Amino acid sequence: MKEPSDVIAPSINRAAPRVTRFAPFVTRFAPSPNGWLHLGHAYSALMGVQQAEAAGGRFLLRIEDIDIGRARPHFIDAIYQDLAWLGLEWPEPVLLQSTRFEAYEAALKILRDTDLVYPCWATRREILDAIPDPATWPRDPDGAPLYPGLYRDLPDSDRKRRMWEGTNYTWRLDMKKALAWVEKNISEPLTFQEHNLPGGPQTLNAEPAAYGDVVLARKDVPTSYHLAVVLDDAYQNITQVTRGQDLAPAAHIHRLLQALLGLPTPDYFHHALVRDTQGRRLSKQAGDNGVRELRQQGRSAQEVLALLPPPLGTGESL
Ligand code: GLU
Repeated sequence: MKEPSDVIAPSINRAAPRVTRFAPFVTRFAPSPNGWLHLGHAYSALMGVQQAEAAGGRFLLRIEDIDIGRARPHFIDAIYQDLAWLGLEWPEPVLLQSTRFEAYEAALKILRDTDLVYPCWATRREILDAIPDPATWPRDPDGAPLYPGLYRDLPDSDRKRRMWEGTNYTWRLDMKKALAWVEKNISEPLTFQEHNLPGGPQTLNAEPAAYGDVVLARKDVPTSYHLAVVLDDAYQNITQVTRGQDLAPAAHIHRLLQALLGLPTPDYFHHALVRDTQGRRLSKQAGDNGVRELRQQGRSAQEVLALLPPPLGTGESL
């Protein structure tokens, strides 16, 4: 029988996050296969490749397909094809998050055993109803109203009964308990290195409290983006996370999870987002500037790469 910690990372010491600074440079591009890649993805992937080349390190591709409702196999194939067409290379086999549910489950168990997560049955409606004035209620960095704490202090007997009844629930991090755990078990403040700041790299203090009691898993899917990403970055020995600026606030919650699970902390490079001529962020949902579409229009990979904003392209025709 494997211990939960064996499944998460080969060597785990919950109280002492490992320093990765001297490890060989490894970065990754980690798309979710729920749409076609657009120029923003191409920019992100290429930025990772360039960072790896500059550091004499490695670039990995990881498929983040934990959202079983939205991930589609044909989008996974399309990711491989479009990136290869752009001239990118990556080591095989590619890690698919859908093969890692055992590791996510094990990490969740660690958090459950230390009483740092609790089951929550609140529906979106219930959460909104519990908020007195949505206009003044605090919001998390993603703009969602901060979770008002419903079900946090439910007696154990009620929890057990509700779990038996089988209605859907999520596992939420108890932020107050998590911060107290860190205070008690980790001697230093939680920090991480952000490389892409106007004045150069800086050590930032992690401020995860802004997220409140985030959802870390669901009854039927033993993970969320936040939990899976920290576990897989550790599993793949990622030393620098290269991704878009939209995920910069998430690094604060990721740093906290690394501390709670005894995982190493990578450095972060949050690059600028690719925008259209109106300044709007490109999105899969809006079907923006698909790499595939440009290719089908007869553009060459060289031409598509030139469309990327500096420093990777000229950005002229965007
Ligand atoms: N899978 C995420 C996305 O496609 C990116 C995760 C990350 O780079 O941390 O937006």
